[in-house]
Amino acid sequence: MSECIFCEIVAGRAPCHQVYEDDLVLGFMDAFPVAPGHTLVIPKQHAENLFEIRAECLAAVSRTSQALALGVRKALDPDGVMVMQLNGAAAGQTVFHYHTHLIPRAEGSVLSLHPRIPGNTEELESMASKIRSALD
Ligand code: AMP
Ligand code: ZN
Repeated sequence: MSECIFCEIVAGRAPCHQVYEDDLVLGFMDAFPVAPGHTLVIPKQHAENLFEIRAECLAAVSRTSQALALGVRKALDPDGVMVMQLNGAAAGQTVFHYHTHLIPRAEGSVLSLHPRIPGNTEELESMASKIRSALD
């Protein structure tokens, strides 16, 4: 059992609403979404942050972030998509396994980071399914 929740998800020992997977990366719904469609992209290989991630994994996460942002845009038609990545507790990082956030934004909406309200399972799966379909 890893102490890292994202490593547990990669290993299949913790659940996620998966959107995308390849040899290097995994994309899945944030369990505490700040907006419907809030998606995370992580490297499969553990790295704590931007300072430590291997260049090959960073490139793979970046490529996938673009592909999934296109999928989010196609699936949900938001006014914008925010890509966010935090390094260190002082920067607001709470899970110490590198990840990018893809956050659909609506014109005029107020963003609250870390609302800590769990997403509804059916809603998370419905969002994951829409984004998966938009990638096909
Ligand atoms: P950060 O503050 O950038 O480290 O973001 C970590 C994100 O991971 C937060 O938005 C959390 O809601 C999300 N999160 C934490 N645990 C899980 C989990 N088990 N499955 C999906 N998302 C998670
Ligand atoms: Zn990890």
